[in-house]
Amino acid sequence: MLEPDLFDVEAAALAHAKAAHDDQAGSHRFALGELIAHYERLMRETRRLIRRSDRAEREMNQLNRQLHELTQQLEYRATHDSLTGVFNRGAFIESATAALAQSETVLIVLDIDHFKRVNDDFGHPAGDAVIQAIVKCLGDILGQQCTIGRVGGEEFSVAWQNESLESAILVAQRLCDMVAQLRHAKPVDRPVTVSIGVSWSPRGTDFALAYGRADEALYEAKRNGRNQVRFSALDPTSNAA
Ligand code: GH3
Ligand code: MG
Ligand code: MG
Repeated sequence: MLEPDLFDVEAAALAHAKAAHDDQAGSHRFALGELIAHYERLMRETRRLIRRSDRAEREMNQLNRQLHELTQQLEYRATHDSLTGVFNRGAFIESATAALAQSETVLIVLDIDHFKRVNDDFGHPAGDAVIQAIVKCLGDILGQQCTIGRVGGEEFSVAWQNESLESAILVAQRLCDMVAQLRHAKPVDRPVTVSIGVSWSPRGTDFALAYGRADEALYEAKRNGRNQVRFSALDPTSNAA
């Protein structure tokens, strides 16, 4: 079906003027002729301007879409770790702080054991691949239910709302075992283990306090020989909200 022409009425008026022009003689005919020519030019110019403005609108819409995508990419890069795709330190602290303000929360801190040796023996790219494999394992076991962040070089943390200390310890132990069983890509020819600290905090606990407890538990795991889970038993008197 033909699209309605924006200038249907003008085109009809023009046709009438042309018919009158053909019937006229002398100065009226000349004036009408001029009017017709200018009127036709006006319609041509207006059509051209409309086409140009349609094109500009399409281009503007496309630029808006690109701007929106770029903003999303920038936001993602500002909040995520480029190697592993989990939250970076700043975004993790923000998210864990919000979780603690809302509800009881378990914090897990995980550090790769003797990772410097992995880098020294197999090279930095192989070390990167080990980090990625361990974080994938972390994501596979924990799923979408909690927030994972990279809080240091080879140190990761998990914030888990409304989870009991007992079941978090079981999951952390499973994670520890699974990581130790991972087969890494060449040239890494030996298992790599992790040490894990766990803390549970009631709603309203300060992030630094909750994290500090999990971190202490982690260092107990390191001191105890690594490749293990330790947890912080909550001391109610130290639980400043
Ligand atoms: P520990 O069991 O006590 O944790 O020993 P460690 O060797 O893991 O600890 P240390 O802190 O001495 O070494 C951590 C190493 O992790 C040093 C650093 O170069 C390396 N590292 C940090 N970030 C990255 C990274 O993104 N990629 C690689 N390949 N290495 C990293
Ligand atoms: Mg380490
Ligand atoms: Mg470390």
